[in-house]
Amino acid sequence: MTDEKCPVIDVRESTHHPGGQTQHPLPRNAGATMKCVLPFLFSFCCLLAAAALAAEPDRPNIIVIFADDLGYGDLGCYGSPTIRTPQLDRMAAEGVRFTDFYSAAEVCTPSRAALLTGRYPIRSGMCGDRRVLFPNSKGGLPAQEVTIAEALRERGYATAHIGKWHLGIHEESRPLKQGFEQSFGLPYSNDMDARADLPKGSSGSATPPEDGWNVPLLRNGKVVEPAARQSTLTKRYTQEAVKFIAEKKESPFFLYLAHTFPHVPLFASPDFQGKSRAGIYGDAVEELDWSVGQLLDALRQQGLAQRTFVFFTSDNGPWLIMGNQGGSAGPLRDGKGSTWEGGMRVPGIAWWPGKIKPGVSSELASTMDVFSTALALGGAAVPKDVTIDGRDLSQLLLQGRPLAEAPYFFYRGDKLAACRLGSWKAHFLTQTGYGQPQPERHDPPLLFHLGLDPSEKRNVAVANAAVLARIQSAVQTHQRAVVPGRPQLK
Ligand code: MG
Repeated sequence: MTDEKCPVIDVRESTHHPGGQTQHPLPRNAGATMKCVLPFLFSFCCLLAAAALAAEPDRPNIIVIFADDLGYGDLGCYGSPTIRTPQLDRMAAEGVRFTDFYSAAEVCTPSRAALLTGRYPIRSGMCGDRRVLFPNSKGGLPAQEVTIAEALRERGYATAHIGKWHLGIHEESRPLKQGFEQSFGLPYSNDMDARADLPKGSSGSATPPEDGWNVPLLRNGKVVEPAARQSTLTKRYTQEAVKFIAEKKESPFFLYLAHTFPHVPLFASPDFQGKSRAGIYGDAVEELDWSVGQLLDALRQQGLAQRTFVFFTSDNGPWLIMGNQGGSAGPLRDGKGSTWEGGMRVPGIAWWPGKIKPGVSSELASTMDVFSTALALGGAAVPKDVTIDGRDLSQLLLQGRPLAEAPYFFYRGDKLAACRLGSWKAHFLTQTGYGQPQPERHDPPLLFHLGLDPSEKRNVAVANAAVLARIQSAVQTHQRAVVPGRPQLK
């Protein structure tokens, strides 16, 4: 508070100069005037800025739903003959279903890093020798990496992480330090931290023991259940998500819902257990489908459907060595852990009623594009001084504008194994996801046409030397520029 009175500027003291312009001398107590006016001016500017943000009609809420180890062939709308997914099928019918959508890695940790940062995991260093983080691993997502949550939070978005994290357990890599205002879920995969006396093979069993693992359930970094009751997780994640939507309906929000399933060990709640023709794997996927329906229904009921962009995808392909508990890549070759198509091509569905024209897109897109699209829709600044590999899909989704052709690189760990350009894919190194101890090196590379041969069965390198040369040139350009990052180590 100040006891200075606001002065009144007396215009009668104006003087007329020979040049013809009238000048008003500053009043003697001009300093005090500014002191009084500035706070009002500042408040007015803040109000203007807030009004401008509120008036932007195209800053939607953003929800990313990330399944774990869900294969390309595991949803009805992607051709599963047995697993029933009416909610995702409806989401696809109302939105855009991508036929050629890729995760940026073939296993969990690098895949999540790429989704949240829009960068190939080699750049952030989230692709070490072990390829995924374990409970005793050092390392995690470096603090300087900019996540979707950090970028959108800068623009006034409320942010929440629900589900699996798997980007590091030390302080700087945790959700609350990576842009999320709240977090509820598991720090890593649900098959880690097994009970010492758990029989071998339990995680891939059709009837795993619910008390077999000590994976903690955390809320904002604090343990709320030392060993998460896994059969309740999909339901509880869903309740948390619906609650967040209701609580934040007035402000734009970003929700990252990274489901624990269908990663093994597989559990479903009693409402879904034993219901699917595809066994416990199908039960778990059908419960995820139910969860998606709950979220979209909540958006419709809250009047948010036309103000919310939702993207559904998976972190990598199906874990085929788990047999009946391992899902399906449909017609694609191999699965999780491999840079064959089945390891990295996954379902990808975009939804925003009234904005996205429903259809099927065969554009080559990836989880890194989800980063760039979210930032563009949210009006957030793209991080400077780092290479962003994602591309903004909003013109494609909202206006049907095709993407320019660009190479897409397939890494296994820190090794570049393959490259796709248009419909062509060249492999330099191949290795099955599991069971093949060493990669096979190909010189000349293998070449497949994914339009004619989506299952990668017929190597046509010899007849297409010019295509191969173009791809090799794109790889050289990429590799010359890549600076491998280092994970945060503590
Ligand atoms: Mg996974």
